[in-house]
Amino acid sequence: MATEVSPSTGYKFRLPLDPTKRLPPLRNGTKPPPTCLPLPKRTNSIGPVSSGGNARLYFIGTATTILEWSGIRIMTDPNFLHAGGHVHLGPGVTGTRITNPAIDLEDIPELDAVLLSHYHADHFDEQVEFSLVRSLPIVTTPHAHTHLAYKEGEGESFTEVHALDHFESGILPVATPGVTGGQAIKITAMPAKHVLPGPAHILEKANELLGAVPPTNGWMVELGRELGDEDVVEKRWECGYRIYISGDTLMVNELKDIPELYRDKQIDLMLVHLGGTTIPGPHLPLLMVTMDAKEGIELMRLIRPEVTIPIHYDDYDVFMSPLKHFKDAVAKAGMNSQIVYLDRGDAFMFDVQDRPEKKYLDETSSVL
Ligand SMILES: [Zn+2]
Ligand SMILES: [Zn+2]
Repeated sequence: MATEVSPSTGYKFRLPLDPTKRLPPLRNGTKPPPTCLPLPKRTNSIGPVSSGGNARLYFIGTATTILEWSGIRIMTDPNFLHAGGHVHLGPGVTGTRITNPAIDLEDIPELDAVLLSHYHADHFDEQVEFSLVRSLPIVTTPHAHTHLAYKEGEGESFTEVHALDHFESGILPVATPGVTGGQAIKITAMPAKHVLPGPAHILEKANELLGAVPPTNGWMVELGRELGDEDVVEKRWECGYRIYISGDTLMVNELKDIPELYRDKQIDLMLVHLGGTTIPGPHLPLLMVTMDAKEGIELMRLIRPEVTIPIHYDDYDVFMSPLKHFKDAVAKAGMNSQIVYLDRGDAFMFDVQDRPEKKYLDETSSVL
């Protein structure tokens, strides 16, 4: 269990979340949003989870999940196309969805924020972009920020977009009336590279020139508490559960900075975007842009989380490394006990630790 305290300095933004003031998540919804998620098909957990866990991750499909903790609900990479739907993934690159999301866009419950790893249509499809209420807070890349915060047309721009570049952090304090424990969610953008640099960075430069595959973030999402009185500006951070989300990335050198940065801290859960996405498509598989089974195993060995959950593994025809490859590789590597597999509509329950151990309180740790 991850526990430590550190000063809360250097946040790029502070975004208080008050679930009692949520708006319906869709601006064009035809019915009131449900107040909660449907019952999961299956609920998984690992290790000792007290009274069923105090936090939950619900898997919708692709890289779309809903994280619930302390009355707060955050959705990642919303993509609600159905099987047969098409997404534009770059010049001349189209993906066809071959699965259905666990719930429809019209059935998403009230939300507090969206965490968007990058502006790619299998992570933020056209219908989602059209439908989400404009004031819904979105934490994302600087690239996606420019697209979403400055859209053409009166009232079309999203008004609460917060950009984080690699290694920058923002804090989302829980501001529910009556909740006084300092609960907060700290989000730090992690390095990620969707395209390999190639010799002399030629692939990377060509990609930037073409604006083909968008820049992407991974995330470190920490559920915890800010310690210190109301009037104290520099509160200390106490992490009760730490989640690393890989984003759409390949196994690049920059990822080695992550275990270095968190070397004395535990990563409790890793959500890894797999699929071995290969473009331009299944008939001309030239360039792999997300991790396949082999790289997924390498990432587990690099990050060493307590639990890994693969996502983004079979939803599009351009995902050419099926989950079975990863399952086989995990079994062969003897790592089955470190994995939880979720199907769409399944949930993972876990415990966010409430209080740090005394020894951590006595420590003076780094800014993280
Ligand atoms: Zn992508
Ligand atoms: Zn993707």
